[in-house]
Amino acid sequence: MTGTGAFVQPVPRARVLAMKAYHPPLGNRDALRLDFNENTLACSPKVREVLGQISASALTRYPERESVEALVGSHLGVRPGQLVLTNGVDEAIHVLFATYLGANDELLLPVPTYAMYEVYASVTDARVVTVQAANDLQFPFDRLVAAITSRTRVIAIANPNSPSGSVATRDQIIGLARRAPHAVLFVDEAYYHFHGETVIDLVGKVPNLLVARTFSKAYGLAGMRIGLMVGPMDSMHWIRRVISPYSVNSIALACLPAALEEAGYVDWYIGEVLAARADFESALDAAGIRRWPSRANFVLVEIGPKHAEVVAGMRAAGVLVRDRSGDPGCDGCIRITIGTREQMRHAADALNKAMEKLRGAGGLQ
Ligand code: PMP
Repeated sequence: MTGTGAFVQPVPRARVLAMKAYHPPLGNRDALRLDFNENTLACSPKVREVLGQISASALTRYPERESVEALVGSHLGVRPGQLVLTNGVDEAIHVLFATYLGANDELLLPVPTYAMYEVYASVTDARVVTVQAANDLQFPFDRLVAAITSRTRVIAIANPNSPSGSVATRDQIIGLARRAPHAVLFVDEAYYHFHGETVIDLVGKVPNLLVARTFSKAYGLAGMRIGLMVGPMDSMHWIRRVISPYSVNSIALACLPAALEEAGYVDWYIGEVLAARADFESALDAAGIRRWPSRANFVLVEIGPKHAEVVAGMRAAGVLVRDRSGDPGCDGCIRITIGTREQMRHAADALNKAMEKLRGAGGLQ
């Protein structure tokens, strides 16, 4: 300490001071977890087997990702050098923005969408330009095209999108890439497995297209933090400069080959979720609850002004769901993750009971 007698805390950059806090409602989640779009059961038995075999000495070494990257690349049909493994898609977003977004640049975002795009953009010096979807929450293609400027540097779209569950078509994605050749078009396919359509095959052919995938959802490995980004060699060259060489830990790297090998488990889980989604959507329709059509493992529903009471009522019945009322264009909405058919029968029950209770207590409106 110097002679002044008081500690002075260093002040963060102005952009950090201005950031909005993002606090996902973690903690006390010992219930049916339909709030984070996770796999609601488990990862595959083979992955658990590998986990049991990891030796203490293996953990003393820094992780080496190259051989696993090559394996995942050939699994996805992309050329070596086009793929980088990441600490979840979140790290892919962070690194991509740090690589491309500078002062005077614009990040173009259709909203509502995944919150972390804005969080990571606000650490850069770029400006975020949001494009609001219409009331149907469909992908706002024409409005996005109209918002492209010479400063647009990155366009980020989640496909399927969260929280809406809506999708952009392949033609729309190609159209956007063509209309903004000076920008990176980042397509976040975190929920690809529940949609079944991808543009990963266009990587390297559409020169400004980058695509991300995760093992957090269908594969049930959210806690392991593993995802990936693919793009043209040139882009990935710069991405590799920015990313930490050790951000994907050796436990995740050890498990990934087993996760990919055991395709049967993931296919089974996806099939179960799709069947449960159809049943749950029918249950919502039968109950007269407005919903948006979803191509992902969740569905957005409109509750109205009593959304928080319904979330609390479902929690009391042991079912966690996510209040999305604060998202742009989602007033009064909650998002419900789709699990297995049995889990969703329980969820539909809890939802109906929470709604009935409110109707009894003076109505939902
Ligand atoms: N993208 C979207 C659209 C998401 O909803 C999520 C997770 N909620 C992520 C990325 C983050 O994925 P990861 O766990 O791989 O970081």
